[in-house]
Amino acid sequence: QAKGKGKNSICFYTSDINDRLVHYQDITALLRRAIVADSLQLYFQPQMDLNSSDMGSCEALLRCFDDKARPVSPAIFIPVAEKSGLINRIGDWVLDAACKQLRAWQGTALEKTRIDINLSGRQLTNHHLADHILRTLQDYGLDPSQLGLELTENEVIGGDEEQIGQLERLKQAGVHISIDDFGTGYSSLVYLRKLPVCSLKIDRSFLHHAMENDSDMAIMQAMITVGHRLGLKVVVEGVETPEQDKLVRDLGCDLAQGFLYARPMPAEKMPAFLADMNSGD
Ligand code: C2E
Ligand code: MG
Ligand code: MG
Ligand code: MG
Repeated sequence: QAKGKGKNSICFYTSDINDRLVHYQDITALLRRAIVADSLQLYFQPQMDLNSSDMGSCEALLRCFDDKARPVSPAIFIPVAEKSGLINRIGDWVLDAACKQLRAWQGTALEKTRIDINLSGRQLTNHHLADHILRTLQDYGLDPSQLGLELTENEVIGGDEEQIGQLERLKQAGVHISIDDFGTGYSSLVYLRKLPVCSLKIDRSFLHHAMENDSDMAIMQAMITVGHRLGLKVVVEGVETPEQDKLVRDLGCDLAQGFLYARPMPAEKMPAFLADMNSGD
C-alpha cells in the first residue's frame, strides 16, 4: 500500500478518502492537528464469547478524521505515526482514553467489559512502558485485568529480553496479552512458549479463504489446535457471514470478532448494543 517515491514523499493510497493519494506530510500534519485539537476518537468493536454468547471484551480502534470530517483509515495513519515517532504520543492518548472509558463504564452494564488496545512495536521500546501502563490503571482506579494489549507477532518477536520482560510484568499484574493478526508474521511457533501471551487472534485472511481453500482451512485448524494445546484462548477476526460464524464454532474457536456481530462503534453506541444482545436478537 505504501509506495516509496524518494525521501519524504512516501505516498499512501486509500479508497477510504475518495481515492486520492495522501502524502506522508499531509498525514503527519493531520495527526499533529488532531493531537492538539484532541479530536482523535476511539471506536469499540465487541469480541463475542462463542460459548456463552456474551461480549467477551472489546477492541479499541483508533479513528482520525480529516478536515472534512471523513475518517482516515488507521491502516494509513498508524504506519505514518510509527515512522514519524508520533506513535508514542498517540499510544499514550489511546491508553488514557481507554482507561477513561473503562472508568465511565464502572457501575453500568459494561463494567465487566475488558478493553483491548493495539500497541505498536515502537511503544515496546520504551523502557517505562509497563510502569506507565500499570500506573495509569492505578490512577484511574482500575484493575489491570480490565485492560488488554494486542501486539503482532513481529512486534513481540522482534523484541529483546527486556521488552519480553515488560510484557511478562504486565501479564503477571493481570493485563491480558494477545497476539494480533496471528499467522501473518514471523510465525515460528517455538516463540509462543517463551512469550507471555493469553490469546491468539487469527488473522481474518485465513477465515476469508478457508471456505474455498483447503490449505487455509488446514492452517486455521492447526493454529487453533496449537493455541489450545498451549492453553491460550483463540479468537478469530473478520467474521462477516453466518456461514463463517458456523465454521468458527465448529472449529472450536473461543471468541470471534467481525462485522456480523458488530462494526466498530463510538462508545455511546455500546450500551444499546449490549442491551440488544441481551434481549436475544
Ligand atoms: P487490527 O488490530 O487487526 O484490527 C482489526 C481491524 O479489522 C479493524 O480495522 C476492524 O475494523 C477490522 N474488522 C473487524 N471486523 C471485520 C470484518 O468482519 N471484516 C473486515 N473486512 N474487517 C474487519 P481498522 O479499525 O481499520 O484498523 C486497522 C488496523 O490499524 C488495526 O488492525 C490495527 O493494527 C491498527 N490500529 C487501529 N487502532 C490502533 C491503535 O490505537 N494503535 C495502534 N498501534 N494500531 C491501531
Ligand atoms: Mg488488533
Ligand atoms: Mg493489528
Ligand atoms: Mg488483527
